[in-house]
Order: sequence, then C-alpha cells, then structure tokens
Amino acid sequence: MKSFDYVRPASIGEAIAAARAPGAAYLAAGTNLLDLMKGGVSRPDRLVDVTHLPGLDTIEKLPDGGLRIGALVRNADLAHDAAFAKAYPAVAEALLSGASAQLRNAATVGGNLLQRTRCAYFYDVASACNKRAPGSGCDARGGDNDMHAVLGWSDGCIATHPSDFCVPLVALDAMVEIEGNGGRRQVRLEDLHRLPGATPQQETVLEAGDLIVALNLSAEACNFASHARYLKVRERTSYAFAIVSAAAHLSLANGRIEQARVALGGVAAKPWRAREAEALLAGAEATAQNFRRAAEAALAGAKPSGDNAFKIELAQRILVRALALASAGTPERIPALPASPFSIHSGALHDA
Ligand SMILES: Cc1cc2nc3c(=O)[nH]c(=O)nc-3n(C[C@H](O)[C@H](O)[C@H](O)COP(=O)(O)OP(=O)(O)OC[C@H]3O[C@@H](n4cnc5c(N)ncnc54)[C@H](O)[C@@H]3O)c2cc1C
Ligand code: SF4
Repeated sequence: MKSFDYVRPASIGEAIAAARAPGAAYLAAGTNLLDLMKGGVSRPDRLVDVTHLPGLDTIEKLPDGGLRIGALVRNADLAHDAAFAKAYPAVAEALLSGASAQLRNAATVGGNLLQRTRCAYFYDVASACNKRAPGSGCDARGGDNDMHAVLGWSDGCIATHPSDFCVPLVALDAMVEIEGNGGRRQVRLEDLHRLPGATPQQETVLEAGDLIVALNLSAEACNFASHARYLKVRERTSYAFAIVSAAAHLSLANGRIEQARVALGGVAAKPWRAREAEALLAGAEATAQNFRRAAEAALAGAKPSGDNAFKIELAQRILVRALALASAGTPERIPALPASPFSIHSGALHDA
C-alpha cells in the first residue's frame, strides 16, 4: 500500500484546512474508503479523520419541525431513532435495506452519501476505467455490465450510484449542509451527485476541502409518513447492493393522490428523482393502472448501456409495487430485515 499522512483534527476549521491540500481525503468509518485504498483504487496522500470532530453525531429537531442529522450519525443509529423512523419511514427502511448490520453500525451519514460506485472494473486496477484513470477508457462497455445504468449514462461511463439511503432522501428534497473554504452552504441532495458526461471522475459538486456536516429533512416531508415505502431488488436478501430500487411517498385523500414523491436507485450515476411519474400521479386515483402509467413515464428516457435491458422493465415493476405498498399504508413497525419485493403479502412486511 502507498504511504500516506494521517491527521485527526480537533475542529471543523482544522479539518477543512487539512483537507484542502491536493491528494487529501476525509476518512469517516472507512467502510468504503479503506477497501478502495487496500485495492489501490484510491491513493490519497493524506487522510483527514473526521470521526472525532465535535457536534456532528447528533439528530436535532429544526425550528420548522424537520430534522437535522449530523454527518457522523451512524446508519444503524439513524434507522433505529424512533422519531426519525416515524417521520421518514421509507428512509429508515432504505437504511435497513443497505449493507449488513455490522456495516450499518459503523457507516456514517456523510460516508453513505459519498460512497463510490460498485462497478467491478472501477475496483480492478488492471481494467480501463475513465472514473479511476480519466481518459483510459471504460471496460464495462462490452464487458460484464448487467448491473450498470439505464438512465443518464454517457459513452465515457455507465456506472450506477450504489446508495439505498439516498433514494428516498432525494424524493423528499433532502438538503446537504456543507462547510468549505467559503463558509457554510446548503445543496439539494438531488444536485450533489453529477451525471458522468465527459468527466465521470467528477462525481459530485463538492470542491477541495468541502466537508459534509449535516443532512436536513423538512417538516413538510413528514406529510408522506403514513404512505411511504422503499423497495429493493438484490441478488440475496442478507446483504447485496440494489439491482434496482424504488422509493414511493404518497399523500392520499379519499383514494386520490394529492402529491407523490418518487425516486429510483440502481439505474443511474445518481439517485434518480422521477418527476414525470410524480406529475402523472398528482390528482390521480391510486390504482394499479395509474401506477403502471407513472412507472412507464419514470423509465421513458431509459436505454440499455449493455446487457441490462431487463432493468428497465424490472424498475417499472418495482416502482409499481412500491407505489401499491405505499398506498396500502406504511406498516406499524419497520422490520429489521425489510421484506423481499417478491413477497406474496402485498403491503405486509416480515419481522426478522
Ligand atoms: C460489503 C458491503 C456491502 C454494502 N452494501 C451496501 C448496500 O446494500 N447499500 C448501501 O447503500 N451501501 C452499502 N454499502 C456501502 C456502505 O453503506 C458505505 O461503505 C458506507 O455508507 C460509507 O460510510 P463510511 O462512514 O464508512 O464512509 P468512508 O468509507 O469513511 O468514506 C466514504 C467516502 O466519503 C467521504 N466522506 C466521508 N465522510 C465525509 C464527510 N463528512 N464529508 C465529506 N466527505 C466525506 C470519504 O472521503 C470517502 O470518499 C456496503 C459496503 C460494503 C463494504
Ligand atoms: S462504467 Fe464507469 S466506473 Fe465502470 S469501468 Fe466504465 S468508467 Fe469505470
């Protein structure tokens, strides 16, 4: 392994100053970054350990009734926070669908947002990869690419963003609080990740030294709490990244949808907000036919980037299922291991 400096700053200001240097990277729980370093995929010159920064590990109520979640809150602690899970149940369900219990106990909010793609060619330093080595090409094109993107991809990169957590967050207009050289600012999570275009190595709008300090969810986003679900298809239920996933949030009155908030995972280089589906659902009756129309609209711009045409139909079916489950109502209790989407019990979840 390449040698590197390790610093453990005592304040956010010191952390930003230390991370501004070329080749520096923030280290949170390291569940993604350390794997990448061991494989020679990431080769930072300096690690800035943020895990001891004060004040970043709390969940606070905002004046408007929303929640502010510190960047160092652990994925498991957030999913099991009763007030959070009651207000944003699909986000808790997505957290519990991600990784394994051990990983969720360690992984942080900030690290989950910024985890890297799971494209196998990105992880294999012997492969050509424009994201890891700009200009080297993309071995995923013409390679093993059934898990790759069907929306928003470019000739230069067809990778997907792997986070479950981000999918319902994008649907709920979550805001990311960032501190950097120019002070503190907020960016919509929907705008944090970039599509690959000609520069797949630029994955986010963050600049050198930018530190994610918190994630904010509004009180308005709680209005969907009684009809909210996250559904994920993966190759094994114990733990695996999403092949595709869907977050569905509805507000209903007399069987009619007042508002819908919908997003897809596993389909693009960023969590994918499905605004066309939302527009079709607003004011419509909560019927299987309308869910299918919405799902078709969500995937209307999709095209295979390889052997993954199946994902287009699969994503539509998962979205239809997520919408049906959401309209049936959020379960009283979020299970420790969220249900398989293939469960025959529509609307029901199994306790693990
Ligand atoms: C076997 C395995 C299975 C997994 N399965 C899933 C899954 O099914 N679904 C899923 O969503 N995830 C899954 N994950 C990914 C896991 O959720 C992430 O590894 C984890 O969330 C990253 O958090 P961390 O705190 O360990 O981040 P780190 O590994 O420490 O950091 C990740 C990245 O974020 C940057 N970073 C961290 N914190 C900040 C900050 N505050 N500000 C700016 N930059 C920051 C780091 O520099 C680094 O680039 C899996 C991981 C593994 C190893
Ligand atoms: S899809 Fe993207 S991450 Fe994967 S090999 Fe191609 S350029 Fe690299």
